[in-house]
Amino acid sequence: MSIVEEVIIIGSGPAGYTAGLYAGRAMLKPKMFAGFASGGQLMLTSDIENFPGYPEGIGGPEMMMELRKQASRFGCEIIDKNVDSINTSSHPFKVIVGKDSFLTKSIIITTGAEAIWLNAENEEKHKGQGISTCATCDGAFFRDKEVIVVGGGDSSMEEATFLTRFCSKVTIVNRREELRASQIMADRARDNSKIAWKLNKVVKGWVGEQGDFKGVILIDTQTNDEELLKCDGAFIAIGHKPMTNFLENQIDLDDHGYIVHKKNTMTNVDGIFAAGDVVDARYRQAITAAGMGCMAAIDAEKWLEEN
Ligand code: NDP
Repeated sequence: MSIVEEVIIIGSGPAGYTAGLYAGRAMLKPKMFAGFASGGQLMLTSDIENFPGYPEGIGGPEMMMELRKQASRFGCEIIDKNVDSINTSSHPFKVIVGKDSFLTKSIIITTGAEAIWLNAENEEKHKGQGISTCATCDGAFFRDKEVIVVGGGDSSMEEATFLTRFCSKVTIVNRREELRASQIMADRARDNSKIAWKLNKVVKGWVGEQGDFKGVILIDTQTNDEELLKCDGAFIAIGHKPMTNFLENQIDLDDHGYIVHKKNTMTNVDGIFAAGDVVDARYRQAITAAGMGCMAAIDAEKWLEEN
């Protein structure tokens, strides 16, 4: 007879690991599919300065390793594989991972969100060879080079500021005059003498042959003028989209693909819960994701008890 798990957690990151920790301490023996690239977006973040309890800040990967250890300590089994799909048409639910499928009474989805690309002209051929969505991963390749960062949010400010450690010049390109970023992050970028600004500009396309990135064509949103800005690399920091493709009509999503909560952290399917950036387009913080992971584990525990 197949084993039926009490709870399967899909996705790692602060929400998943916290759910694993709470479900583990509730003796539910959670099984977590952490993904091939476990740890989520914070594996790509240099310093986390806004997680309470770390007055000096902590590295993203370092924090994820600590959370992972803490969840493991209480019996959360962590498997570094991606879930391909789930089947919610019958109970227990089925979680499909490659050729294997797992039965479970409840599921907590914490798959997070991933970076959005611009899809401007010639973007595809420069992806990973001139254009990146992760300064922490690729910044060091641009030592003493000139790069641009597209976007006006906190991510853009953070990436640009981080890149000045390596690059000789970093130009922030924003489609509006105003920045979406918080005052403190924007001020930090404004005060950095290596950072230049191109405001009211959108990216029309990228210049250069594959493997030989040369720059960007910008359009002024007010005058429609085109401008070639030569640079050695580009970082796109315009936001994220939730990782919900694998759910394929199994769970209610909003227009942007985020999971919708029906009651507390439960989705429209009884026994399936969701937490973190995969449901949250508003706060998107490690601390809020962790908090919601805790809530989802408590909700799952109560639901299992009652059903
Ligand atoms: P945001 O959604 O906050 O900002 C996205 C930026 O990209 C905006 O300036 C937006 O412009 C611009 N943009 C979006 N689409 C396009 C497009 N197609 N072309 C050109 N520009 C575009 O995303 P972030 O990733 O910056 O931040 C997400 C969340 O994470 C926020 O809540 C942020 O505070 C948080 N965060 C916190 C950090 C920290 O505290 N250390 C670090 C990084 C992020 P427009 O404003 O015109 O829409």
